Amino acid sequence: MKKRIAVLPGDGIGPEIMPQAIRVLEAIGQKCDHQFTFTHGQVGGEAIDARGIPLPTETLSLAQSSDAVLLGAVGGPKWEGLEYERRPERALLGLREQLGLFANLRPAKMYSALVGSSSLKPEIVEGIDILVVRELTGGIYFGKPKGIEQTATGHRGLNTEVYTTEEIRRIADVAFQAARKRRGLVHSIDKANVLESSELWRREVINVHQNFPDVELRHMYVDNCAMQLVRYPKQFDVVVTTNLFGDILSDEAAMLTGSIGMLPSASVGATVGMFEPIHGSAPDIAGKNIANPIGIIASAAMMLCYSFELTDEAEMIESAIQKTLEQGYRTKDIESQGCTLVGTAEMGDHIVKQLGH
Ligand code: NAD
Repeated sequence: MKKRIAVLPGDGIGPEIMPQAIRVLEAIGQKCDHQFTFTHGQVGGEAIDARGIPLPTETLSLAQSSDAVLLGAVGGPKWEGLEYERRPERALLGLREQLGLFANLRPAKMYSALVGSSSLKPEIVEGIDILVVRELTGGIYFGKPKGIEQTATGHRGLNTEVYTTEEIRRIADVAFQAARKRRGLVHSIDKANVLESSELWRREVINVHQNFPDVELRHMYVDNCAMQLVRYPKQFDVVVTTNLFGDILSDEAAMLTGSIGMLPSASVGATVGMFEPIHGSAPDIAGKNIANPIGIIASAAMMLCYSFELTDEAEMIESAIQKTLEQGYRTKDIESQGCTLVGTAEMGDHIVKQLGH
């Protein structure tokens, strides 16, 4: 199989972790006879410094003409003072919008070797396997009117939560389809007791559920879900929710599994999928060779699975990560007693070695 991958390392630890994912993909390519070609593009702060904007046209064209996009992370203190439209994070919203990526899949799975790294008790977190399906192109991040307006006494900041029938139905469909391949349970998370947009959300999720009688549907308010995730996380299989709620809940689910540096994500919808770790650019640890590359390596595995249908190859990467952790290798964020502390590149070495290279 021949595939063209757009590689957008971005800022902070992005350029440190990206080479590890590329090495793993090259190792899988050699092992299983696939040809992956990697074309680099500028995004985020790096693109602002070079071109004045976070998502240059060349980068967008590269993404649109590739088979998939692998992204590191964007942002950092250097660009925080810029006006909103020119900030690095705008590049992510632009890519999601332009590529039609309406569904963000974020697995939060507990690796058994890491049960001790969670801030919760082992018996609470052991066996966690949650998939958060977050709506990505609608809701309050995109709704209009929005902005900051002058008032007689100061200013007024305004954002609008908007969801349409079509937007809710297509994300619900993704969630029910995913649940069919898993344990067959969907929790739909909303705030239907307060928000009209949530009232419609709940109504439409119930409508879509009629096509999936084999999947169980439960509804939960977002405040309760935030609490249940730390009280009894094993009750969740697939969690489907809005853009804003999903942004927050997926980070909470992530922390149950030990480190934000471990977790991948897939953004899908139209033809070209985008794959990135859920963490940001981690400016506090950038350039020190201590960042955990597992989140981006697992994102590369999701790319093989969701964009290229290479399920076996994706599982090989998952298993290489698992074995590396079982052998006791840890980056600083998941360090524990008796384990061998390794840097970003060394963690990449061990995972590549597990793949037989
Ligand atoms: P962050 O995820 O970058 O960092 C939060 C904490 O987790 C930090 O202590 C960091 O050191 C640690 N961490 C993150 N990834 C790690 C890894 N791979 N290995 C080890 N430790 C890791 O979030 P933040 O500090 O809120 O944001 C920093 C910058 O990243 C901001 O500019 C923010 O806007 C941006 N951001 C970008 C994305 C993205 O590109 N998708 C997502 C979130 C935040």
